[in-house]
Amino acid sequence: MKIAFDNTYAKLPPQMFTAQLPVPVKDPQIIATNAELAKLLGINPMAFQDLTAAKIFAGNHIPDGAAPLAQVYAGHQFGNWNPQLGDGRAILLGEVIGTDGIRRDIQLKGSGPTPYSRRGDGRAWLGPVMREYIVSEAMHAMDVPTTRALAAVTTGEPVYREEVLPGAVITRVAQSHIRVGTFQFFASRGDMEALQALTDHVIARHYPDATGPADLLDSVIARYARLIARWMSLGFIHGVMNTDNVSIAGETIDYGPCAFMDAFHPDTVFSAIDQYGRYAYSNQPGIGAWNMAQFATALIPLMPDRDKAIEDFTAAVHRFPEHYEGAWLEAFAGKLGIMDADEDDRTLIADLLDMMTKDGADFTNVFANLGTDTARDQFIDRDAFDAWALRWNTRKSPDAAAIMAKANPQIIPRNHRLEEAITAGRSGNLEPFHALLAAVTQPYAPLTDETARFARAPSKEERVTRTFCGT
Ligand code: AMP
Ligand code: MG
Repeated sequence: MKIAFDNTYAKLPPQMFTAQLPVPVKDPQIIATNAELAKLLGINPMAFQDLTAAKIFAGNHIPDGAAPLAQVYAGHQFGNWNPQLGDGRAILLGEVIGTDGIRRDIQLKGSGPTPYSRRGDGRAWLGPVMREYIVSEAMHAMDVPTTRALAAVTTGEPVYREEVLPGAVITRVAQSHIRVGTFQFFASRGDMEALQALTDHVIARHYPDATGPADLLDSVIARYARLIARWMSLGFIHGVMNTDNVSIAGETIDYGPCAFMDAFHPDTVFSAIDQYGRYAYSNQPGIGAWNMAQFATALIPLMPDRDKAIEDFTAAVHRFPEHYEGAWLEAFAGKLGIMDADEDDRTLIADLLDMMTKDGADFTNVFANLGTDTARDQFIDRDAFDAWALRWNTRKSPDAAAIMAKANPQIIPRNHRLEEAITAGRSGNLEPFHALLAAVTQPYAPLTDETARFARAPSKEERVTRTFCGT
């Protein structure tokens, strides 16, 4: 397999990473490969047939041109400062420039211990690997900025959690794996050399028009606010919005305990460790602003006039809601087939969401079927819904149907389907995984006999309301 690596992070100051090889595994077997993404990266998908492919995606064979390393970072986890984190179970193989001209990281996750592992074994089990593969590819298909999945392999080795589970490695592709926490690490240590090098690297790589740290901050805030608005418009709950899981490139990263809501409720939390609902659905924008305040704080040391920087950066962070609210209105107006949305439409959308909350309506299916009885049937109070629909009709654009078809997925990776695929995968049956993956990567396609089951909301018995971190 030929991968045209062009590595730049490996040339940054040495305190920013540790050169580190993945630890080989016993018996790598490919479970999924992504031909479309391979082509984008300039990799010939035929090479997935090579005998070395499984070895490369397991970390047993290092492809020519790779410069394997583990990145260091820090972060606020559930609001608590952790001064030392890093790739504890991931290895960056290197970077490639895609056929679209965009530079991307190729990273193995689940590839063994590194100096940043602290307590863990550096491994991943099949469940979170499958979840990340399916959900990240579904997000991409829905046009949400995200890391992607190039391949997944099983390792032939057990991993020990509360039970013995099959080990797996996912090959993750991202515009970069640089996080808010990467900036925090160097800022907190007063390492100006690294902080400056990191900032220059990020501007050159992700925000070439930015004129300096202040401008970078504005750009990251705008991108991140937009990203969260997109999550909200899909009923997506990230689950662990720690600052070490906030990509500077504005991509969704770290699919540990994430899930999509079935029945709509703003307080929904899936993650078993999120006891107080810090990362509940409706808290995501507020946490987004909080995370940007941490980013701003990490950039302050770069500024010549500290007091002025604090003032300017505070103002920048206070603009987060404005970016978010604009993107939210645009996203939800699209879901209702409304062009040129105005402030009154905000109320129209909020009223629909309130009815959905009261009646426990299925978020995805209401939007995917608005204007038909299938959506109306989701509501208990039909009179209230009909009254709302009359207001909506006066606001709909003439080509609402076309706009809505592109804004409302029929199929999302529902939590019970993910669990079903993972359970089957554990006993060696990959068919449900591949069927779900195929369905969620065509989210807007008309339903067929084969895919209709993936669009159906779970029954009470089928509902899966808890998720776990991907370790
Ligand atoms: P996450 O919850 O995935 O964002 O991970 C938080 C931190 O824990 C990161 O620094 C990870 O590298 C580390 N970590 C998570 N799982 C493992 C593991 N199995 N072995 C070693 N480190 C881990
Ligand atoms: Mg993480």
